[in-house]
Amino acid sequence: MSQFHRAFFFTSAYEERDLPSSTSIEIAFAGRSNAGKSSVINTLTNQNRLAFVSKTPGRTQHINFFQISAGKFLVDLPGYGYAKVPASVIRHWQSVLENYLQTRQALKGLVLIMDIRHPLKELDIKMLNWFSPTGKAIHVLLTKADKLSKQQANNTLREVDMILSTTYSNCSVQLFSSQSSLGVDTASAVINGWLDDK
Ligand code: GDP
Repeated sequence: MSQFHRAFFFTSAYEERDLPSSTSIEIAFAGRSNAGKSSVINTLTNQNRLAFVSKTPGRTQHINFFQISAGKFLVDLPGYGYAKVPASVIRHWQSVLENYLQTRQALKGLVLIMDIRHPLKELDIKMLNWFSPTGKAIHVLLTKADKLSKQQANNTLREVDMILSTTYSNCSVQLFSSQSSLGVDTASAVINGWLDDK
């Protein structure tokens, strides 16, 4: 059993001072709204509703922490790119996320989720540019791969991999589908490796 099947909701943070202090390893999940981030977290933890906590009214702009074991957390970052969000909310999001990604000591790696039909949008690149200089690991999931043929999905995987590998170090990418479970074992292995890395 994967160690994150035990995950449970721990706390929400709206701004930096709300971030929990008792953490030693955090793995963050980021992605555009509707990219499939909640489904990824639910699939990986094998819990139908865990990440929907992050979609409840009042929590969509929060950083949500799911505890796995003492000191170890999966961290669901607010979805971005939703058109109807006021400018003040976007500014808040930018400063909290940028600061969290660039300075959070406990943060070990970033799982960046993109809809395979719309990869590498402007805000995805922004996340990569904020986080990549830390030298920490980034793993991209091209999710909803079931929406494309196997060949189309593999073509997109190759293209994205080429762009990422020429621009960012320490960045890997794979196909994923919460619907068909494609790529779940690979993604779990990557994240488990980060959690266990001393
Ligand atoms: P979030 O806003 O990034 O958390 O996205 P959700 O996980 O809520 O997913 C957004 C929509 O995409 C929902 O209607 C999901 O059912 C659908 N979805 C998510 N993952 C997949 C997938 O792997 N395959 C397919 N076909 N649909 C998916």
